[in-house]
Amino acid sequence: MTDRISDRIIRTVVITGGTRGIGRAITLAFARPDTRVYFNYSSSAQAAAELERIIVEAGGFAKGMKVDIMSAKEVEDFFTTILEESGRIDVLINNAGIARDGLLVRMKEKDWDDVLDTNLKGAFLCTKIAAKPMIKQRYGRIINISSVVGASGNPGQANYVASKAGIIGFTKAVAKELASRDITVNAVAPGFIETDMTSSLSEKAKENLISGVPLGRIGKPEDIAAAVIFLASEGASYITGQVIHVNGGMYM
Ligand code: NAP
Repeated sequence: MTDRISDRIIRTVVITGGTRGIGRAITLAFARPDTRVYFNYSSSAQAAAELERIIVEAGGFAKGMKVDIMSAKEVEDFFTTILEESGRIDVLINNAGIARDGLLVRMKEKDWDDVLDTNLKGAFLCTKIAAKPMIKQRYGRIINISSVVGASGNPGQANYVASKAGIIGFTKAVAKELASRDITVNAVAPGFIETDMTSSLSEKAKENLISGVPLGRIGKPEDIAAAVIFLASEGASYITGQVIHVNGGMYM
């Protein structure tokens, strides 16, 4: 299959929350000599420097920046830098996310706000800015990381589930707005994936979760990165407004 953007000199990919877990796997998967990869993080500067080093040593380009996705000003400065350096944005992956779990009746307002501001408002802030150069280019791929629980619901995660269901609605609305400019907008909904986010679960809780996964294992960050790479590829150019579930069958 011909890759419409392969003849461009360099493509620019932006990944939010690229330093750890799923975002790190996505960042590594995009790292190629013909791609400029930009990623942000909130605190893990050392992990960012290490990731940059790995990618540069492999012949790629990567730049990690400390940018709080909850801050409109920091997000704006992040994209201004990217556009000054690269002049375009081809792919945006809204991946940065947090969980602050608790039962609804005990949930603190701050835990609700922080999760919604990071997971949903952060995606809004980044997409709003990245859409502008994409509209001008008449090309773009936006991929939002949702979650299986955004479709299934989950007790103890009302804030997180609301943010991830919101991401699905956001994906569909923006897909319809931007389709005429050849910009596709899709979501990937991971199941139970081995990252820092899930590392605090007890062995018992992990066993219970795995028993509900027909494929019988916890997912790897690379399982999610593979779906993202596909959605960013030319082979996915007729797919928009969709949610790809990558969960070992735990939700069908
Ligand atoms: P993770 O290991 O906890 O990594 C989260 C990443 O997001 C880190 O790079 C972190 O940066 C960044 N981040 C968090 N808050 C930020 C902020 N305010 N500003 C900028 N960056 C911020 O998480 P993960 O498990 O890889 O999850 C990645 C995405 O997949 C999330 O959206 C999550 O909801 C979703 N997801 C995960 C699972 C799972 O089972 N793991 C399942 C479904 C969906 P720092 O390193 O600086 O903290």
